[in-house]
Amino acid sequence: ATFEGMNLKDDLLRGIYSYGFEAPSAIQSRAITQIISGRDVIAQAQSGTGKTATFTIGMLQVIDLKSKDLQSMVLSPTRELAKQISQVVGNLGDYMNISAHAVTGGNKTIQGDNKKLGQGCHVVSGTPGRVLDMIKRRILNTRNLKMLVLDEADELLSETLGFKHQIYEIFAKLPTSVQVVVVSATMSRDILEITKKFMSEPVKILV
Ligand code: AMP
Repeated sequence: ATFEGMNLKDDLLRGIYSYGFEAPSAIQSRAITQIISGRDVIAQAQSGTGKTATFTIGMLQVIDLKSKDLQSMVLSPTRELAKQISQVVGNLGDYMNISAHAVTGGNKTIQGDNKKLGQGCHVVSGTPGRVLDMIKRRILNTRNLKMLVLDEADELLSETLGFKHQIYEIFAKLPTSVQVVVVSATMSRDILEITKKFMSEPVKILV
């Protein structure tokens, strides 16, 4: 398989190659086109398989750059991961004029986030607590959100981190038509519950 064969936008393809990728990984070959087609996707994949670029490339292909609306949101279990994802979005989208912002509990002030987001932001990557807080404060407007990604969903939903309730609250504030992409190393009962409640006829991909 090749990235050319995926019918990606030229400026996205350029971003992928200049980031140093030559050929898609197994998960990328199988999941990117499904994400682009608009289907809900569950990808069972560990770190190191190229999972981040999978949902990032899928997301970048479908984002409408003419709109300044928030279109995609990624939830992940740690601040570090949320920041890394935001950077990967910026890097792969380097030739697309993409605007991505990390929203995490570590950011100094909500005001700083407020300013950045007020200028228009296509993609937000964050931890559930801060994202929910900012939706409630109407700093994040999810009215036109097209895609939600849950990265490391088994971690996100684990009892230890205690994000489950916040994630359900976030879902309640999204358009019911939102496309959902779940990436997880393992399939837990909590993930199946999310699948049943918020996804429709998801494609399952196991790598
Ligand atoms: P991840 O599974 O998202 O944690 O990615 C693991 C590592 O693989 C990261 O350093 C990526 O930059 C790298 N990577 C992802 N996709 C590709 C690819 N198609 N070609 C080369 N490296 C890749």
